[in-house]
Amino acid sequence: MPRLIATQSHVVHGYVGNKAATFPLQCLGWDVDCCNTVQFSNHTGYGMDKVFGSITDHETMKKLLSGLFRNFPHDYDGLLSGYLPNKDCVEVVGSHYTNYKKSNPKSIWLMDPVMGDEGKMYVNDDVIPEYRKLALSGIVDIITPNQFELEILCGEKISSKEDLKSALKSLHQSIPVIIVTSCDAKIFDDEGFIYCVASMRDKDAIIYRIPQIQSYFTGVGDLFSALLLDRIHKLLISDKESDLKFEEQVNEVITVVQKVLHVTRSFASKATVAKMGVVEGMKEMELRIIESKDLYGFS
Ligand code: ADP
Ligand code: MG
Ligand code: MG
Repeated sequence: MPRLIATQSHVVHGYVGNKAATFPLQCLGWDVDCCNTVQFSNHTGYGMDKVFGSITDHETMKKLLSGLFRNFPHDYDGLLSGYLPNKDCVEVVGSHYTNYKKSNPKSIWLMDPVMGDEGKMYVNDDVIPEYRKLALSGIVDIITPNQFELEILCGEKISSKEDLKSALKSLHQSIPVIIVTSCDAKIFDDEGFIYCVASMRDKDAIIYRIPQIQSYFTGVGDLFSALLLDRIHKLLISDKESDLKFEEQVNEVITVVQKVLHVTRSFASKATVAKMGVVEGMKEMELRIIESKDLYGFS
């Protein structure tokens, strides 16, 4: 059974971060070791005045990760990193994952550089150089930025398909697989659709056009990266590896995520769907991770 360490947020109530990633990965046969970078009562979509809990301080993170990698020096087939709340945390997770990868080159590190969206940062700017260092290190296998995060990593604004191509090319010097989970509507100019771009080093990028569901969801990116790590891991351990397969694996991840969003929406009341995104409706738009249990295994 493959084993993975997942370092990202934890909420007591609801499904984001490790709560969104763990059950789907377990359904897919993974042993999931969770290292929680924060522990909050619920996700921040409820409004900050309704969130309680704390950030795991970097000394604790350091102890946890160094202890784990000392006790289990070769146990992890996958390393997942998601929301890291500050610079120290990025540094600590980055250095421990890097060391693990150096002595276990076959393990796969998927780094979701969670920094912000649509022009807004949700962590402090000082994480940027840390993430850039990791992106350039040649150690990370897969990254899953949205367009805003991709722009931050490259230090260039992306306003056209050509810009996007050159951003991917420059990051591919150090990262083999890049999935831009959503691009700015401006680039593709196609209202009502999300564009996801999957790119493998030295290959043409694949563009996925996804019908946008008109609701506000949380934890979707975390579900996406978890499923993607599983699919890429299967790709890499299979001996029948091909381009087509990469394309299909990403397609399946997108398809499953869409299905989970539809399940989630089907549980929401009409009133919530009509009011989409407002705080009172948040609880009902939390991903229905458990109810979607039959969807993760792919056909
Ligand atoms: P992030 O939170 O990192 O910005 P994205 O917005 O890029 O994440 O979404 C990640 C993926 O989740 C997208 O590639 C898409 O497949 C799916 N997704 C997210 N929101 C929606 C939505 N409203 N409708 C359809 N798919 C969505
Ligand atoms: Mg987004
Ligand atoms: Mg994301």
